[in-house]
Amino acid sequence: MTGNSTPHAGYFTDRLDATDPEVADALKGELRRQQDGIELIASENIVSIATLDALASPIVNKTVEGYPGRRYYDGAEFADRIEDLAVERAKQLFGCGYANVQPHSGSQANLAVFLATVEPGDTVLSMDLAAGGHLSHGAKANLTGKWFDIFHYGVRDDDGFLDYDTMASLAREHRPKLIIAGGSAYPREINFACFRTVADDVGALFLADMAHFAGLVAGGAHPSPFPHAHVATATTYKNLRGVRGGIVLTDEKVLAKKINSAVFPGIQGSVILNAVAAKAVCFGEALKPEFKEYAARVLTNARALAAALMKRQVRIVTGGTDTPLMLVDLRRHGITGKAAAESLKSAALTVNKNAVPGDTEPPTVTSGLRFGVSAGTTRGFGANEFTEIGYLIADVIDGLAADPHDNAKTERRVRAKVRALCRDFPIYPNLG
Ligand SMILES: *Cc1c(COP(=O)(O)O)cnc(C)c1O
Repeated sequence: MTGNSTPHAGYFTDRLDATDPEVADALKGELRRQQDGIELIASENIVSIATLDALASPIVNKTVEGYPGRRYYDGAEFADRIEDLAVERAKQLFGCGYANVQPHSGSQANLAVFLATVEPGDTVLSMDLAAGGHLSHGAKANLTGKWFDIFHYGVRDDDGFLDYDTMASLAREHRPKLIIAGGSAYPREINFACFRTVADDVGALFLADMAHFAGLVAGGAHPSPFPHAHVATATTYKNLRGVRGGIVLTDEKVLAKKINSAVFPGIQGSVILNAVAAKAVCFGEALKPEFKEYAARVLTNARALAAALMKRQVRIVTGGTDTPLMLVDLRRHGITGKAAAESLKSAALTVNKNAVPGDTEPPTVTSGLRFGVSAGTTRGFGANEFTEIGYLIADVIDGLAADPHDNAKTERRVRAKVRALCRDFPIYPNLG
């Protein structure tokens, strides 16, 4: 055949394996890494094959800007159908009147709320990053920290619980326009009603960022920020078990309109439509009865892991958890978060180092670890497995405390047990 003007023979038919072994090999390596290790990073989860199907659809080719029924480009009928599905499901899932499903990430969702609710120079009150807050809540290095006047509350030194008294007195003193609750390393239930009372007292709007526990809220295993929050944000890829991305939710019509304008054209351009399709799949999955079970199991598992660690004399900040995550304080063991995370990685347990309240080590070292059970629970682990995992983690920590320079023997022994657990609870058996 002559006149073949496709970019190259096989462009529409050859799979990645054949066309680009370098990228394909790295992707296969990542799949094996996930299959053979236990993922304890609290920000991670394991999406369904249905989610991967949605992500790999040719809808990636479609460009749309704006919102369903009001796009700036034609040919958007299926894009509209997909975004409408995602929005309707998100509203149903979280019991609120309005949802924006376009934010490319949780940070974008939060930035959109800033743009919709405050002006540069306005005062904002949020949790300190060092106490478990998030960069996008006004950390110095973040745009929100540079353009807004940020004040931080934290956690109490003695017990690690959120310091509501300081939060309320800072609010009265500085009269913020926006008060933010939520963080990436705070393990306990947040008193949303208290935040709302304080916000009302000082005339502030209240944003609840539920990035780390949105799945529990969706599954009824954690109180909802609504009706207390004026606006809530979440990531869809952590405990909610979907694609990487963010959402903004509200029950207030005027605010919803401002948020839509803030997301587009305020901070984003065209929509990542395969991500929105995968968000619709994620919300559809979370609306099923099985997801309620998942949420309940996440909480049971988190508490089982914390209990196992405490039984082995590992200190858990606040003495437990109400969320998928927990924070370990290693100062008693005389080892750093960095050293412990590296040793655990050698044992095929993936975790992240994390500052603990009152930490004097730099953020690149830290005195703590953060564990999350969302991914392991998706894999099928129950309380028994998480108890065993807790003991394995304690073995590694004890080994490292005994000899900070050589923990290889314990790492090898634990790695063999981890591999066995992974074989018993396989993921993606038909991939790779
Ligand atoms: C993870 C997280 C985010 C968003 O993170 P992205 O990496 O931008 O998706 C926002 N807020 C909190 C509290 C988080 O934990």
